[in-house]
Amino acid sequence: MTNAPSPKNNADQDQFLTILSREDALERFEAALFPRATLAEERPLADALGYPLAQDVVADIDVPPFDRSNVDGFAVRSADVASASEATPVRLVLNDEIIACGTVPTRPVLSGTATSIATGGPLPRGTDAIVMVEHTQPAGRRAIEIRRAASPGQFVSYAGSDIARGEAVLRTGTLIGSREIGMCAACGIAKVSVVRRPRVAVISTGDELVQPGQPLRPAAIYDTNGAIVSAAVSENGGEATFVGAIADDETQLEAAMRQALATSDMLVLSGGTSKGAGDVSHRIIARLGKPGIIAHGVALKPGKPLCLAVCDGKAVVILPGFPTSAMFTFHDMIVPVLRRMAGLPPRSDAKVMVKIPVRIASELGRTEFVMVSLVEGAGGLIAYPSGKGSGAITSFAQADGFLKIDALADQMPAGAQTEVTLFTPHVRVPDLVIVGSHCTGLDLVTAPLARAGMVVRSIAVGSLGGLAAAKRGECDLAPIHLLDEKSETYNTPFLDGGLELVPGWRRMQGIVFRSGDKRFEGLSAEAAVRSALADPACIMVNRNQGAGTRILIDRLLGQARPDGYWNQPRSHNAVAAAIAQARADWGMTIAPVAHAAGLGFIPLAEEHYDFALVTARKQRPAVQAFLDALNSDESRAALERAGFSKA
Ligand code: AMP
Ligand code: MG
Repeated sequence: MTNAPSPKNNADQDQFLTILSREDALERFEAALFPRATLAEERPLADALGYPLAQDVVADIDVPPFDRSNVDGFAVRSADVASASEATPVRLVLNDEIIACGTVPTRPVLSGTATSIATGGPLPRGTDAIVMVEHTQPAGRRAIEIRRAASPGQFVSYAGSDIARGEAVLRTGTLIGSREIGMCAACGIAKVSVVRRPRVAVISTGDELVQPGQPLRPAAIYDTNGAIVSAAVSENGGEATFVGAIADDETQLEAAMRQALATSDMLVLSGGTSKGAGDVSHRIIARLGKPGIIAHGVALKPGKPLCLAVCDGKAVVILPGFPTSAMFTFHDMIVPVLRRMAGLPPRSDAKVMVKIPVRIASELGRTEFVMVSLVEGAGGLIAYPSGKGSGAITSFAQADGFLKIDALADQMPAGAQTEVTLFTPHVRVPDLVIVGSHCTGLDLVTAPLARAGMVVRSIAVGSLGGLAAAKRGECDLAPIHLLDEKSETYNTPFLDGGLELVPGWRRMQGIVFRSGDKRFEGLSAEAAVRSALADPACIMVNRNQGAGTRILIDRLLGQARPDGYWNQPRSHNAVAAAIAQARADWGMTIAPVAHAAGLGFIPLAEEHYDFALVTARKQRPAVQAFLDALNSDESRAALERAGFSKA
């Protein structure tokens, strides 16, 4: 990487020329921020829950503040009752006083006398022991008999025996919980000095961002990072202020950054971390204070463009724009610093050992994080990679945790044992595991299981991947829609030993187009394709090789390769979106998707979406519940409402 930059490709060459390892970047970032003065504030005890103490709490009274009785009974002189027994009871005259809680004693206990005292009552002068009321008997109106000896100090709590004046009862750094609040209250302390939450300003950057709740304009996307980062800041002891999404305009962004930084301890931006022309945040950071940028480009995947800076003692960070990248880099690189500023201990995430069923390729030279879904295999936990690329947010919702592939490895081989960091405190292995082709109809069928409290995990790896998982016994069911071209039948020819077919439902495949398009309206599928081929301005959208839909398209097209043929998205929805947004004019998808997108639809052929059931797992309660749900009237009706027909 020693190419001399030429003026033309300067920006490209400059791009992350000095990439730091994850460990290096974190170490330099921490070194630029710590040690630093603690962010201390006084908080009323009632509002101090969850904060770490910024100072030792020192008692300035004794607890208890006086010698007090631990029982209901009589204050005596132990010497008076030293000889007391059942056979030789000692008679004591009662003093004319009853010491309840909160009563200050006025009469001394002289030899031969006793004073009635309640639990918590202060000991009068002259006494050194308490006799329990149960061990005495009235002897006339103003006297008692005692039938047991009492040792000096019996049933007495001495002043300062619990907490002594001047003692540090709680140490700096202790997290305040109900017990700590109790300690302070006992000492009469109403305010404590705690580490205040670091104030973290959060800014999203990008012309394309719209806040949730607002209508989405064409070519815009919802601001995801604003919400993620603000929540993650709160989860880790910070006080987040979300400023909003700022357009990629240097003047506007600089004003927003300066204003945010003036009232914060940390500023977290997302997006615009590349060193490209439109990306201005890092140029602004360079003007915000010393020492400035610490790392720009870290050997992480996802997350390479991460930028870490310290400006006059304040942390300034630019997270990558893709939400999953933003989330990973925030948790891995920013959370340690934020928690340290907040006086909190490092996160203690739960970890489990797993086996990898499939090879995971990885980029050499970058620490790679891969999200995984866990299922129970014969020999322990199996972790399926669930990432859909750094742009996908759903992977987070589906995943149970993530694994790390070392920067020096270019892959993790199938069968490898590795450690998974969980997103939750405990592993919750799903009750039912479905691995294969995904269909929106699946959620309708599994809805009753979810209502019954079962965890259903469906992992989309395509029909063939599902069959392989089923053969390895890693799932209960593999949904498939595979057409055997020789026999022209679906699915059955693909099942072998140990698997049985459970009929699912039918999905009508057909030509989609924008309603009202005269080239297609009212035609048969074959005629519609002829009409499309006859118009050179007409653009199609295809499907990926291996998709059942693609086989149908290729049959209709024969040798023709119209404009758009090489546009081959991997899902029914992508086809519908391309046509709805007029990037293409026709394609093939399933009826429910076409209707949901408000498109015209010409039915062509029914595709069979069935399940390969692992026979050995058929008797499991969750499998039985699934089969019941699949065959219920409720499912049939829901599938039909959504445009599917139950097989
Ligand atoms: P950038 O680094 O700004 O080029 O962003 C990289 C990708 O992340 C682009 O597809 C952006 O649209 C996307 N992105 C940036 N910021 C956000 C955000 N706050 N929420 C969701 N996506 C974002
Ligand atoms: Mg951007």
